[in-house]
Amino acid sequence: MPTLSKVLRELAQTCAPDLSAREAVRQLQTTGADLLLVEQNGTVLGVFGHREAVAVYADGSAPVRQYMRHPVPGRNAADSMEAGAEVMVREDTPVVILTEEEGPLFSKTSRSVGMVTAFEILEEIGHTTTDTAANKIFFGRKDLGLNIPVSPCQRACPIHQDIATYVDYVSQGRYLDSWLVIHETNPFPSILGRLCNHPCETDCKRGWVQGPENAVSIKSLKRFATDYAWARKVKIEYQRAPENGKRVAIVGSGPAGLTAAQDLRLMGYTVDLYEREAKLGGLLSASVPHFRFEMDQLLWEIQMIIDTGVNVHLNVNVGKDLPLQKLLDDYDSAFLSVGMMKGRILPVPGSDLPEVISAMEFLRVRSYDIVPDDFPKGDDVVVIGGGAVATDAAQTSIKTGAKNVWMCSIEPQDRLPAFGNELVEAREIGLKLHTGVIVNAIKADAQGHVNGVEFIRVDAGKLEFDPESGKLLINTVQKVPGTEHVIPCKYAIFASGQIMDFEDQLTPLSPRKLIAADTSGKTTVPKLFAGGDCVQGPSFIVDAVAWGHRVARSINETLGAAVPRDAKPLTIIETTDDHREADYYGREEPPILPAAKRMDMTPVELPWNDEQAITAALRCFQCDTVHHVDESVCILCGACDDVCPEKALDVIVEGEERDTSSGGFVKICETVLGEEFGGKRGRIMVNYDRCTNCRICEDHCPVNCITFQRVRMPDDTMRMIPLTAVSAPPPQVGAARG
Ligand SMILES: Cc1cc2nc3c(=O)[nH]c(=O)nc-3n(C[C@H](O)[C@H](O)[C@H](O)COP(=O)(O)OP(=O)(O)OC[C@H]3O[C@@H](n4cnc5c(N)ncnc54)[C@H](O)[C@@H]3O)c2cc1C
Ligand code: SF4
Ligand code: SF4
Ligand code: SF4
Repeated sequence: MPTLSKVLRELAQTCAPDLSAREAVRQLQTTGADLLLVEQNGTVLGVFGHREAVAVYADGSAPVRQYMRHPVPGRNAADSMEAGAEVMVREDTPVVILTEEEGPLFSKTSRSVGMVTAFEILEEIGHTTTDTAANKIFFGRKDLGLNIPVSPCQRACPIHQDIATYVDYVSQGRYLDSWLVIHETNPFPSILGRLCNHPCETDCKRGWVQGPENAVSIKSLKRFATDYAWARKVKIEYQRAPENGKRVAIVGSGPAGLTAAQDLRLMGYTVDLYEREAKLGGLLSASVPHFRFEMDQLLWEIQMIIDTGVNVHLNVNVGKDLPLQKLLDDYDSAFLSVGMMKGRILPVPGSDLPEVISAMEFLRVRSYDIVPDDFPKGDDVVVIGGGAVATDAAQTSIKTGAKNVWMCSIEPQDRLPAFGNELVEAREIGLKLHTGVIVNAIKADAQGHVNGVEFIRVDAGKLEFDPESGKLLINTVQKVPGTEHVIPCKYAIFASGQIMDFEDQLTPLSPRKLIAADTSGKTTVPKLFAGGDCVQGPSFIVDAVAWGHRVARSINETLGAAVPRDAKPLTIIETTDDHREADYYGREEPPILPAAKRMDMTPVELPWNDEQAITAALRCFQCDTVHHVDESVCILCGACDDVCPEKALDVIVEGEERDTSSGGFVKICETVLGEEFGGKRGRIMVNYDRCTNCRICEDHCPVNCITFQRVRMPDDTMRMIPLTAVSAPPPQVGAARG
């Protein structure tokens, strides 16, 4: 393999660490650069690229210093490509600064001579294996490894799961292999296979071709592989780095905290996990209603994390029972992943009545299988709010025995923030909607018990919504006087927002009253990190998992204690099957129980059988597999170019005029023909943003020199072993936090 000097390029543009992040994004956009080096007094402090730019869209007011990724490692220009790739994996950086030594023996200095990016290194690695699809490259495995090439779904997934591979393995009947690939970056496939908001499906190539509603059912295939592994009674045993002597305290056992706990244990840290509740899992076990997933499978996944050697401390309220300062004194780092556990109750008259509760508290109590004291079985409930949490509270109310349940929102029915499918399910079991209204007061009878909720209509014509998020702009709400009306009920549930419920004077807060931390989880307090919902605001499970990976990496960068695992990344090359016949199949959703059987907390989503799963998996184009052209055989005939239905490919022959409109910049072939073919010289360029992996080019090549192959660096530190008894505590009955 050649040295890094072969792909050296000039240092990228620089910017100052105090430049506003928004300005840096503008600089990237106007110059078309793929990254900026953050420099101060001639020293490169970090790198600001497109991944950082994404974080800025939420709030770009802070300086670049807060978003940049660092450090930017250096390597000698004479080092090997593998050395460059290895440091990129380890430091999770898209760039390496190249140095050369100069000066006499005893006063040698290293001067920067340029840099290389992941793009160049992987393109080179690609050339020397089989793959030249450099534009598909991104950071993949364990959210920091290289996984070449990368499909659009993998790019869109916050934890960059190797979707194409695990979907392909399902299509081949390799269900357990599929499950192992999923676990490379995802510790919670059972729950994400049912509840993920699946940004991957939004950017699936099948959806580009057949319409977004026809994307591959990535989420459900994840569930299928996980169900199979669960039924086979297996679990994963990880190869851990040796203990490194450093200790980390994690506060909060939601998906962010548990993911970080696993990653840090695998890197050799001692991990103490503190949880206020009587059980692990955060909102997953203490809020999301149990009819939406399989609790046993969640416990199985949590147990695999704990089995890496995490020390668990339940019923400890950090900030109250245990001061944060004590953790900072006793540990090398502390990670706050305390979520947004408290529900907001709007301060309208009557909101302090005994039968008024927040949806968060209602769902928390129900998660322990307890029915709150005042809950009116056989009587009516009003839920105030129109989002996903409101739908969960409303469905849970129905399944707990309420007679009539109303969900009341400001938004009109077609703009409700709740997920459409969940709303349909809820309405099938009797939910009533009352939209275009705002709560005015909670009404009480003479004994001081709730007997209704008063609403007032809002002017629907005046409502405006944020064009990007679709959220209601609250300052456009105007009440219509004289439209007050009461919905009679015995219980009122407020699903009107979540707030952070963590108090410690040490914790730095943002203007939104969340914990202030940068995208790597660093706060302004030394040794203190934070991530997940408590930094980002209410979000999604997969985002919390991504936070867990990022913060673990950031803690490791700061403490610098990780001992590399013995295993070297293994590269495998797979030739994959042709899935064109799958064009005939449409997308299918997993079936759910009929409405009459959905009146209790039994999980509602039914499993797929093998045929359904394989059919769904066959619909994947396997966008991670790319052309491999045997350059010694290609005769530059142009047949592949002529037949490509997407004009995704150009065969360019020197001295010949050909259409080169594909816009391809990935070279898959460069060749000089023998005299018998006129000694022609030419190349083939592909635009993978157009290519749909249809393989028509492969069929029409007269000399059969095109094949499609996948290059993968699997995580070979995981081993599947039989499941012994699950020892994680079951959800405890009657042990709810007071
Ligand atoms: C009803 C509901 C339904 C949802 N449904 C979905 C869904 O279908 N799909 C989806 O993607 N997302 C869903 N979400 C969102 C998702 O659950 C969260 O985004 C995710 O759980 C956030 O993870 P986290 O690790 O940041 O925090 P959390 O899961 O909130 O965990 C925080 C943990 O910290 C603990 N803690 C707090 N304070 C302290 C303290 N002082 N000391 C010790 N421990 C403390 C808490 O007890 C909790 O266990 C839902 C949320 C709710 C409320
Ligand atoms: S077709 Fe398959 S590999 Fe391509 S984006 Fe969709 S799920 Fe991913
Ligand atoms: S796989 Fe299909 S879309 Fe891609 S280059 Fe070949 S013919 Fe064109
Ligand atoms: S069809 Fe085959 S031989 Fe002809 S240019 Fe394409 S790859 Fe080369």
